[in-house]
Amino acid sequence: MPRSQAKSLDHHHLPAGARLFSAGDLGDAAYLIVSGRLEIVLERPEGDLILAHRGPGEIVGEMAILDHQPRSAAVRALEDSELVVITEEQLAHRIAQTDPILRMCLGVVLSRYRQTVAILEQMKGTAPPPVLGADAPPSETFAAALGALSLEREIRAGLRNGEFELYFQPIVRLSSRRLAGFEALMRWRHPTRGLVPPIEFIPAAEASGLIVDLTAYAFEEVGRVFPELLLAAQTNPGALDGPLFMTVNVSGRDLAGASFPEMIADFLARTRIAPSSLKIEVTESMLMDDPERAAAALTQCRNAGLGIAIDDFGTGYSSLSYLSTLPVTTLKIDRAFVRTLLADQTSRGIVQTILRLADDLAVSVVAEGIEQAGEADLLAGMGCAFGQGFYFGRPAPLAGALSAIATWPTPTDHQAALRLIA
Ligand code: C2E
Ligand code: MG
Ligand code: MG
Repeated sequence: MPRSQAKSLDHHHLPAGARLFSAGDLGDAAYLIVSGRLEIVLERPEGDLILAHRGPGEIVGEMAILDHQPRSAAVRALEDSELVVITEEQLAHRIAQTDPILRMCLGVVLSRYRQTVAILEQMKGTAPPPVLGADAPPSETFAAALGALSLEREIRAGLRNGEFELYFQPIVRLSSRRLAGFEALMRWRHPTRGLVPPIEFIPAAEASGLIVDLTAYAFEEVGRVFPELLLAAQTNPGALDGPLFMTVNVSGRDLAGASFPEMIADFLARTRIAPSSLKIEVTESMLMDDPERAAAALTQCRNAGLGIAIDDFGTGYSSLSYLSTLPVTTLKIDRAFVRTLLADQTSRGIVQTILRLADDLAVSVVAEGIEQAGEADLLAGMGCAFGQGFYFGRPAPLAGALSAIATWPTPTDHQAALRLIA
């Protein structure tokens, strides 16, 4: 089939006996077989060597677009066949996004397979061997795979050695400026690298599955410190606006695991922390990893009494349909909109729209990343209930959170301050 035809069509009908491509062709597409039957053939003067048959549910032609080598064999239709085309661009984009370890394995498997086919050819001694794939995958893939593996090993060791800790950032009721809760944020006190922020280890923890252990650790820590925070609140009751809550970030991998709701139920039973004082934060993209399992896990958590917050709201690429099916209780407006709020009319419009949506859905809103008084005032005026950001307090270890509670200005302090200003 001509290359341009494969590229321009997403469906392809191949009549019985027709050839999809020949050995040596430059491949620019792979094909999902919807119906029919195809054969992979080494065509040689002394007779064809059939390597394999492929049928519905299988793929052909993937090798050449994975390693950019000429087709190593021909493919012909044994029956009328319906194929769906995957272009080289579609595949390249997906591969670039995959884990480096997986990419490396794929490269090696392909290279080995091509070598085997070449040896097969040489043993017959008839046709020239096909061009061999590169023996080793590109060195940056190797380096990335090595880096990912060593980071994983370090995270595992870090978990064993107690190198992870939680920081806590205040969440404030904007109308009263009193303390409403804290978000628990993970830090890694690395023996040589110092304090490592989550962006440098959470993605690797998610890819390796170690996030499940980090999340379990986060809940253990919350169970340990939350009573201390409540005690501190008793020393400065004016600091608080309602019962104090704690939010914990969880990932799609946590929600996809069968044991997550059990872990939560066990946590609640052991710690006796009121479920309503605990919220789970998930991003939209995490919900999309495995929407059904995520929905089931979140529903179980909500039924147990926990709040469910959508983190970084407005930055995911998903549809909003999940809002009508998931038991969401809070939307957290991403920092990107808050940062540009004062200067940019569009951001203000987006925030207003999110606030209206939240109102319709009867869920609360937290604005993230408030860094200036002007942003806090504007958001309060727009009717946003809660705010979080460096303006109110940076994430801090437990001692910092305890002292934030103890020294949080009471409304009387606010009034006194306002009188002084006036
Ligand atoms: P997030 O959950 O959206 O957390 C808010 C992030 O914004 C935190 O970054 C916080 O330090 C930062 N931030 C808060 N206020 C401001 C501000 O006013 N200005 C600026 N520039 N930044 C502000 P952090 O702690 O580095 O965490 C980054 C992300 O890592 C979190 O985003 C969350 O997605 C993830 N993460 C953190 N801890 C955990 C965890 O225990 N488990 C999981 N699964 N993810 C976590
Ligand atoms: Mg969060
Ligand atoms: Mg966020």
